[in-house]
Amino acid sequence: MMQQYDEAKLACGDALLFFRMGDFYELFYDDAKVAAKALGLTLTSRDKSNTVPMAGFPHHQLDSYLGKLIKLGHRVAVCDQVEDPKTAKGLVKREVQQIVSPGTVTDLALLDPATSNYLAAVLPGSLLRKKVDREQAAGLVGIAWCDISTGRFYTTTVNEEQLPDLIARLDPSELLVSDKNEEMESHLDRDTLMKTLRPHWAFGIETGRELLLKQFEVASLDGFGLDAFHEVALGAAGAILDYLAETQKSSLEHFDRIVPYRPTQFVEVDSATWRSLEISRTIRSGQREGSLFGVMDRCQTPMGSRLLGEWLANPLIDKAAIEKRQDAIGELVKHQVIREKLREYLKDVFDLQRLLARVATGRATPRDLNHIVSTLQAIPQLKQNLSKAESPWLAELRDELDFCEDLKEELSVAISDPAPAQTKDGGFIREGYDKKLDELRALAAGGKQWIAEYQQQVCDTTGIPTLKVGFNKVFGYYLEVTNVHKDKIPDDFIRKQTLKNAERYITPELKEYEEKVLSADSQASELEFQLFDAVRQLVRAHTVRLKGNAEIIAKLDTLAGLALLAVEQRYCRPELTTEKLTHIVEGRHPVLDIVEPLGAFIPNDTQVDQDGFLHLITGPNMAGKSTYIRQVALISLLAQIGSFVPAKKATLGIVDRIFARVGASDELSRGQSTFMVEMTETARILNTASPKSLVILDEIGRGTSTYDGVSLAWAIVEFLHDHIGCRTLFATHYHELTELEKDFRGVTNFNVAVKEWDEKIVFLHKIVRGSADKSYGIHVSRLAGVPDWVNRRAEQILERLESSGEQEANREAISNASSARNPNQHGKIQMTLFGPAHHPLVDKIKALDANEVTPIGALQMLHQWKSELAEEVDVSET
Ligand code: ADP
Repeated sequence: MMQQYDEAKLACGDALLFFRMGDFYELFYDDAKVAAKALGLTLTSRDKSNTVPMAGFPHHQLDSYLGKLIKLGHRVAVCDQVEDPKTAKGLVKREVQQIVSPGTVTDLALLDPATSNYLAAVLPGSLLRKKVDREQAAGLVGIAWCDISTGRFYTTTVNEEQLPDLIARLDPSELLVSDKNEEMESHLDRDTLMKTLRPHWAFGIETGRELLLKQFEVASLDGFGLDAFHEVALGAAGAILDYLAETQKSSLEHFDRIVPYRPTQFVEVDSATWRSLEISRTIRSGQREGSLFGVMDRCQTPMGSRLLGEWLANPLIDKAAIEKRQDAIGELVKHQVIREKLREYLKDVFDLQRLLARVATGRATPRDLNHIVSTLQAIPQLKQNLSKAESPWLAELRDELDFCEDLKEELSVAISDPAPAQTKDGGFIREGYDKKLDELRALAAGGKQWIAEYQQQVCDTTGIPTLKVGFNKVFGYYLEVTNVHKDKIPDDFIRKQTLKNAERYITPELKEYEEKVLSADSQASELEFQLFDAVRQLVRAHTVRLKGNAEIIAKLDTLAGLALLAVEQRYCRPELTTEKLTHIVEGRHPVLDIVEPLGAFIPNDTQVDQDGFLHLITGPNMAGKSTYIRQVALISLLAQIGSFVPAKKATLGIVDRIFARVGASDELSRGQSTFMVEMTETARILNTASPKSLVILDEIGRGTSTYDGVSLAWAIVEFLHDHIGCRTLFATHYHELTELEKDFRGVTNFNVAVKEWDEKIVFLHKIVRGSADKSYGIHVSRLAGVPDWVNRRAEQILERLESSGEQEANREAISNASSARNPNQHGKIQMTLFGPAHHPLVDKIKALDANEVTPIGALQMLHQWKSELAEEVDVSET
């Protein structure tokens, strides 16, 4: 048996092997140690002579243990007994039946319904074998991804720098990389990303092409529109098919096409922006709860939720395409009855996409088919409800809904309702569906009836009142007579078994009926399964039509969800333009607007346009600067997925990219210095933003010394203004920067209003024109409970700094510097921001003529100065 184990282990690579032994799954060697720790199993060994570590669990707990290990990012191979131990000669045959990893999970219980579960593969051009190919594909990466639970399959090529961004938005559960690709390892160094090394040949372009041709049963790939990409896209797609062929021991029929993903159609959102805007997960917990997606999802079906997730990850650029969605949502906003009914009917709809994948892979159960019927039954209502829809897209979706009448008919007469979750339970084909099945069932039932009558009859003839007919697997039907009535046994009873208090007999008559019953029973189950399989094939034949329905339903659901959100949260339909402006009246942060109690969130206006496209927002910490700038970015993003937005009115110029550099503390875990991360991200923005981009920057330059920081922040603003000219919201606590407004036409100062009251400050969270005159840092420090000594001392220092006029001098210095905007032409910019505070002692030292002082006099003077200094610092006694 251990030989069998070794063979299985060899076949499953680095996966943990669950090895079926009788009623248990066992793990051995290191697998046992890993699983014992991860699952809390007891680590044992077979006996004293065999010390191989082992751990196991009862077979019926497979799903739960499998699920736990997958969640922890392990790969698991399940090796089952493929013969019936009762009939097997010698050792039972065992085979690895499936290899499950986070990216290849198909079990619905292990999948999150509301999110796609992607398996992705990457092939960088630099890995191609031939030098000319490498040169041609320099800087490019092929990436393909699929969701095996639905059969969705995409491929594309991106530039190397864009790869982490796409990966961040896709958020795959598992990424296939070539074993030659160590560079990629560091490139995609994300803790949460599970990387699986695959042999490099699996990424071959020709291999990929062949696998795709074979998978889609076509002679050429021309029809898929992949020629727009470099062929590394095929290599990545091939690596996925190769991996699935190895790990999935079932059909991949539901992979019936590959969709070319065209990044240029969508707003570019880089990985840092994606994370810091907390679109699909929050920064703090990494969970969906509390993220934009988490709070705005109102979909009724998992298909709708997954599509919403996809929309958020891919905001549109094309005005007409966005307006098409807006029109549909608008109609559902306006017509409450239609919206509510639509949502009501969607409640009866099941996850058709995942159900169809189960049908294709042969995993569909009777209950799954039942769910398909229920879904089909909802379609006429969905269609009828939209009969008056006027917006072109709603009307189109309605018209394309397919009743699949024939299939629905067949399914509803064939499959019983409710149906069992497993075929082994039987009873899933309806009575009246198949004559032969009905006959066999009647015979089986009739036979049982006969046995009951027979028991009565034998009791009567023998005069043994306690005689019973029983059944076991070894003897089949038998008559059991307790020892008390032993003497009444007739001669034709044949003894089969002796128990402590009773004897068991058979009779020829009993055996004859037994055969009828048993064979009718088994024939009935066999036929029932055949019928079920035929129905399943029928569903399979309807896959394309059903998939079409699934997609339409997903869209209707997403639209209805967004419409409901718009109604609930009083959103407005933004007017889109191609001009470079962002006008928002009473805008709100989409997440805080929902999670805060009604009316608690203070709305703010935004007016970014040619007259002021770069807004500098100053104000104390906690005033609401970050919230405000994120709000503008999120409103733009929402608008470009076609959604209505949390504002009273909005006119929004379409953006091609959104950049957000907000806070970097979450990056510390990646082992880079906060400041390095901050500057890398800033470099990305400055190098790639276009005039049509929207940039939000929060506290740039904070991670270094004040001098460095303010200089960098200053230069960055100048660069954005002069060289890019994109819409920018720049939140900063460097007051010096507000001087920029004087010299830069596009720069406008704003600050967050604060009210001082009773020596305390109240944050009004209101963005107003002009610069903040104070930073209120000490107030905040007091609020935060910093010891009073520090606050008082800080106040003292601040007062001195302010009265010495240094700040004014510094501001002037920077202002002067800004007139020499090109550092190349004018040499180095000299700035003396806050020089060391001017101290009276310095004057004294300057005025001193050292030649005129005696050694004793000098010593006395030193003494005097020292005590003056000591007095100054020790404020606790004043
Ligand atoms: P800053 O970036 O200025 O330090 P934040 O944007 O982080 O400030 O906001 C600080 C706190 O104020 C947050 O807890 C946020 O919930 C709250 N807040 C910000 N803006 C508003 C607003 N417009 N209405 C209500 N609360 C707000």
